[in-house]
Order: sequence, then structure tokens, then C-alpha cells
Amino acid sequence: MVRRTTQPEATREEELECIQQTCPACGGWMWNKYDNFRRVRTLDGVVQLRLKVRRCATPECKRFCQPYRPEAEGNGHYLSMSLDSM
Ligand SMILES: [Zn+2]
Repeated sequence: MVRRTTQPEATREEELECIQQTCPACGGWMWNKYDNFRRVRTLDGVVQLRLKVRRCATPECKRFCQPYRPEAEGNGHYLSMSLDSM
């Protein structure tokens, strides 16, 4: 289905950080590699999310350069909030 209207402007902005700052495989530091943006509609308004995605910087690690996304993204909080507004 094609969206025929533009997305509404965000009423507030939130930044989601990774709780775990070290690599789960090698314990080394994970660098903030890039940010992803996602807009979610909730009952309180439209939220612009900035997701801080990290990657392991140790070349010998099996998780080298694999993205580690913020834990809050997958816990269903924003999904359930957006489904409530449907
Ligand atoms: Zn690692």
C-alpha cells in the first residue's frame, strides 16, 4: 500500500543509546559507528528517534563491524505505543 500523505512533523525527539558499551563477544570497546533515524506515531504525538548504532572495533573479534543496536529499540516499547494509536 502506498502512502498518499506526507509524514507528520515530529513533536519531540528522543535519543536511544546502547546500554551495553562493550562488545558481548570480546569485551572490547564498541564505537558509535552511525545513527539511524525513525519516526514513530504514539498517543502523545510523533516521536523522532535517533538510534545510536555501535560496532566492535577489534579486527580479531567475530563480531567485528557487526552492528549492535540500542536495546530499547527491540523491547517493543515504541512498537506497542505506535500500535495503540492505530
Ligand atoms: Zn568484539
